[in-house]
Amino acid sequence: MGERLDELIDEVADLIVNSKNMVVFTGAGLSTEASLSSFKGQKGGWTRASMMRMIDLVQPDPAHYAIAELEKLGKLDCVITQNVDGLHQKAGVPEEKVIELHGSLKWMKCLGCGKRYPTEEVANRIEQGVKEPVCNDCGGTLKSSTISFGEPMPLNEIKEAERHSRSCDLMIVVGSSLAVFPAAWMPVYAKESGAKLVIINVSDTPIDRHADVRISESAGNVMSKVLERVKGELAT
Ligand code: ZN
Repeated sequence: MGERLDELIDEVADLIVNSKNMVVFTGAGLSTEASLSSFKGQKGGWTRASMMRMIDLVQPDPAHYAIAELEKLGKLDCVITQNVDGLHQKAGVPEEKVIELHGSLKWMKCLGCGKRYPTEEVANRIEQGVKEPVCNDCGGTLKSSTISFGEPMPLNEIKEAERHSRSCDLMIVVGSSLAVFPAAWMPVYAKESGAKLVIINVSDTPIDRHADVRISESAGNVMSKVLERVKGELAT
C-alpha cells in the first residue's frame, strides 16, 4: 500500500513537472471546515468578534503551503476553490490567482449594487455602534459575500473558472468530493479539453473514472510529498 502510494505520488510529481499550465481545484477537504461550521449557522446578528474570529482563527494546512510553493516554482496557473476561508492567499498564493466560487469571508457585498466591502471595515462600523451597516453608494444592505446552500454561484467567477479549466494542461483536484455543481464541472471541462486529471480526496467522487491518477488520502500529507518530489525533479 505504502509503495503503491509512493508510485502514485511520483506520477503526480511527473505530471506537474511536465505541465505548463496547471490548475488546482480545492474543496472542503482542504478547509478547516469543522471550525467554520459553528459560524455558518449564524444568520445576521453579526458581531465583530465572530466575524474576526472566522478570518483570524483559521490557518493554512500543509496542502495550502504546498500549493503556494508550487506557485513560487512557476507551476500554477490558478487555484479554483469552493472554500471561503481565504487560506490559499494566507499561505502565499497571490490574490489574482485564486478564484473563489463560493465567495469569501474577507468580503461583504451590497445587496443593492454589488459593491464589495472588506469584512473588517464593516466590523469596525458595527463596533462603533452602527446596527445595520449599509452601502455608502446606494444605501443597500451589506451581506457576507459567501453564498449559502441553494444560492447561485457568482457568474463571473464561474466563467473565469471555466476558462482556466478549459485551457489548462493539468488539473489537480485536492480535497473535494465534487458533489456541488456547477463547480464540479470544472474537472470535466479540463478533461474534455485534453488536460490530465488528478484527484486527491479521501472519499469517492462522481468522476473518479476519468482521473489519470486517483489518490484516496487526505490532502496535507500527499501534497507535501508531491511538492518534495517536484522540487527534487526540478533540481536535477
Ligand atoms: Zn450598494
